[in-house]
Amino acid sequence: MSREDHVRAILRTIGEDPDREGLLRTPERVARALEFLTKGYQEDPATILKSALFSEEYSEMIVLKDLDFFTLCEHHLLPFFGTAAVAYIPRGRVIGLSKIPRIVEMYARRLQVQERLTQQIAEFLQERLEPQGVGVVIEATHLCAVMRGVRKPGTIMTTSSVLGLFRTRDRTRAEFFAHLERRSPEA
Ligand SMILES: [Zn+2]
Repeated sequence: MSREDHVRAILRTIGEDPDREGLLRTPERVARALEFLTKGYQEDPATILKSALFSEEYSEMIVLKDLDFFTLCEHHLLPFFGTAAVAYIPRGRVIGLSKIPRIVEMYARRLQVQERLTQQIAEFLQERLEPQGVGVVIEATHLCAVMRGVRKPGTIMTTSSVLGLFRTRDRTRAEFFAHLERRSPEA
């Protein structure tokens, strides 16, 4: 069966007629959309990091926040989306600023649960960058919960992953969370 045939089968299962005019191109569109939304599986993290690590003696916290992401929950294949904040304290090496959103995106373009997405971003940076510590906080709205009435619209779930100094030193963790409470300057 082609991937379009699988989508047609789903349409029939829910009582639709895949041959009616409005749905004729839907199987192809759904197949292409799914391919796009899960292309993170094909991405090679090594390529993202290539020529993006720089020697630098800076050893204060670096924080990026309000990184938008969209992903699919692996339980319902429905979107969950929100923002990620990523922080680290370098140990002789920093990463190009534009690469962190790409790393978030690489893990978001897979089937996910929010806890794992948070952890994967933190662990990736800890392993590749070997900083003194990493902190990741993700806030997201899950359409599978909102649309099915499990949670009220607007309910946001928060997850965090802290490694290294962010885990062992209260002061570092507090500094990170203080950054998150501060509002971003208006663009
Ligand atoms: Zn779900």
